[in-house]
Amino acid sequence: MAFVTRFAPSPTGPLHLGHAYSALLAHDMARAAQGRFLLRMEDTDLDRCRPEFVQQIIDDLAWLGLTWDGPVLHQANKIDRYNSRLAPLATRGLLYPCSCTRADIRAALSAPQEGVAFQVYPGTCRHRSIDSRQPGDALRLNLDAALAALADRPLVFTETGPAHAGAHQVDPDQARARIGDVVLSRKGEDIVAYFLASAFDDADQGISHVIRGEDLFEFTPIQVILQALLDLPTPQYHHHRLIRDEHGKRLAKRDDARALAKFRAEGASPADIRRMVGL
Ligand code: GLU
Repeated sequence: MAFVTRFAPSPTGPLHLGHAYSALLAHDMARAAQGRFLLRMEDTDLDRCRPEFVQQIIDDLAWLGLTWDGPVLHQANKIDRYNSRLAPLATRGLLYPCSCTRADIRAALSAPQEGVAFQVYPGTCRHRSIDSRQPGDALRLNLDAALAALADRPLVFTETGPAHAGAHQVDPDQARARIGDVVLSRKGEDIVAYFLASAFDDADQGISHVIRGEDLFEFTPIQVILQALLDLPTPQYHHHRLIRDEHGKRLAKRDDARALAKFRAEGASPADIRRMVGL
């Protein structure tokens, strides 16, 4: 199997050491396997993503000495396409409109972050039919209906990362308890959610190996469920350790002290960065 992986940052801030580790690891694994390393901007959250961060990410990665294969994919250019590919799920009765508060829905659109509790939706709008969708409503996956539709399909994935290596089977009860009815898109604002866009693009870009931080391991089941519903292949997963600060806290984009740009400005070399992240 050809090895194709990607680095998929959300350009909501500058890259820090944790991103550098993720990008370097994915790049090195691809090159060692004579595979391909792709760069994808997960910029569908139009409120939080900024063009200047896109440019800074590209500059930082180039400075680190990384090269990627082919053009950078910008998810923001494909939002209509993602939404149109969602229609079959609506027809199958697997989606429902949701008018819960904008803040709830907004929080549900981006990739989950460690340290920010993931809100499992209580199902307030689950009784609504798809025809009652109003401008501004979100579309949520009815997880119970989805699991019932997939009752005959194996929902499995292989993980090679250090913490959870092995074969995994999606546990429906755990998916209900920990992930629930996720938002897939929002009408009127042409927004599509991370879980969905990422599942489509991993398939469209022929990603064989998803290499990303361990914080996303617990959300892999929902992506496997979406892949099965949409007839997309399931790649192999490798969730890597997180780079933490001296207090053990995962680095976040807002931690400017760990921003690559800062280390660059202070005269660090790409080799120094590799050393700092343990590569
Ligand atoms: N865009 C996501 C993030 O920055 C990464 C998603 C992924 O690698 O699947 O957290």
